[in-house]
Amino acid sequence: MLHLAPDTPAGGTRVLHPRSIEVLNAHFAIRPAEELLDYALSGALGRIALVSSFGAESAVLLHLAARLDAATPVLFLDTEMLFPETLAYQRALATRLGLTNIHHIRPGPVAADLHRTDPDACCAARKSAPLEQALVGFDGWITGRKRFQSGTRATLPLVEPDAGRIKLNPLAHWQRDRIADYFDTHALPRHPLIARGYASIGCAPCTTTVNPGEDPRAGRWRGQAKTECGIHFVHGRAERTKT
Ligand code: SF4
Repeated sequence: MLHLAPDTPAGGTRVLHPRSIEVLNAHFAIRPAEELLDYALSGALGRIALVSSFGAESAVLLHLAARLDAATPVLFLDTEMLFPETLAYQRALATRLGLTNIHHIRPGPVAADLHRTDPDACCAARKSAPLEQALVGFDGWITGRKRFQSGTRATLPLVEPDAGRIKLNPLAHWQRDRIADYFDTHALPRHPLIARGYASIGCAPCTTTVNPGEDPRAGRWRGQAKTECGIHFVHGRAERTKT
């Protein structure tokens, strides 16, 4: 039984005491990801949603959650700039996993060419703002981020505060091989663009294939200074990171 410090209601959501976050990180550091997911989805931390891009590795977290509770709220951020293959994969994977509570999150009106003129503003309008709106009513969210993905994620905790909510990263400590093994063990379908050379899959105008030896994320915003999308906070600070 976990003993957490009293939390603080704020604006309709629960804000965990920093000590509670320490307790959660210490407790689950030596336990399987499934236990943290199970705990989060049990209601012990309030109302928790899973946010997924249905990208290259998303099937693992979605499969783990579906096995615990097929009605887990899944927020799928459809920027309206995704590859058609991603939309097809989203439908097929949701059916395969039996997920019954998927929320399709879409932006309001956004200029079609904003990604060319101001990609940060485009990400804010197509990703950050719709996600923030979709999270109203939730006390926290689950991501599929992992430490191996980038230098800024190297110290990613399992549990962290995030702008008044709690954010859970149950796969933070998983390595690339383990992800691949999980796909194979459970015969999970791969995103169709992986076979065509895409390693990290975001919006179509901002994603290219990668060459052998390149960082998997080299295809995101290729040729631009931008490397981040802006929907994550790291250690409580807004930190623009790739998703
Ligand atoms: Fe816009 Fe590109 Fe960001 Fe997608 S990744 S929201 S198209 S700038």
